[in-house]
Amino acid sequence: MARYKDSVCRLCRRAGMKLFLKGDRCIGDKCSFDKRSFPPGQHGASRTRTKVSEYGQQLREKQKARWVYGVLEKQFRRYYGEAARKKGVKGDNLFRLLELRLDNVVFRSSFADSRAQARQLVVHNHVLVNGKKVNRPSFSVRKGDVIRIKEKSQKRESIQQSAEKGKARGLPEWLDVDLADMQTRVVEVPSQAAEQIGIDAQQIVELYSK
Ligand code: SF4
Repeated sequence: MARYKDSVCRLCRRAGMKLFLKGDRCIGDKCSFDKRSFPPGQHGASRTRTKVSEYGQQLREKQKARWVYGVLEKQFRRYYGEAARKKGVKGDNLFRLLELRLDNVVFRSSFADSRAQARQLVVHNHVLVNGKKVNRPSFSVRKGDVIRIKEKSQKRESIQQSAEKGKARGLPEWLDVDLADMQTRVVEVPSQAAEQIGIDAQQIVELYSK
């Protein structure tokens, strides 16, 4: 599948906020956004003063969500369509679907430093769902599912290091994570992800409701 190939740090600068796409680098002193928080490009610095239209703001919120979860436009629209068909608040439904992606759950469980790294683990067959190999990052997990790093892969240095950092960082309440056994059970459906990330989900709903 086609993916964004440019430096992902440019996305943070375009979004006007840190999207935490590069693991450790995002919290260290090498973060590009901390050094240059204006949009990329020749006239980037002057663009921070330009007033953004209502449509522009809605578009930006949608892009932020796409970039954070690493989802392409077409796929994102599909998620929105599914969220809109469900009962409840569309914005909440949308972020619930995004949070329940397998790559996101692997990342949230601290088996990987970033969603991009989590995606690689899934694609390269290091992850089991309910004991079965699943190599599709967009696979949607459900409440009660058990996600586990394959026995053979548990000794990988990158996974061990991520798990160590996870202990210090803290883990989400909707996941019951056992870092010693490298396994996670989904105990709740996630909520409030958009607020925690800093995205206004309602703006996305308004964009797609036009
Ligand atoms: Fe964004 Fe992380 Fe790059 Fe900083 S280091 S600009 S937070 S992706």
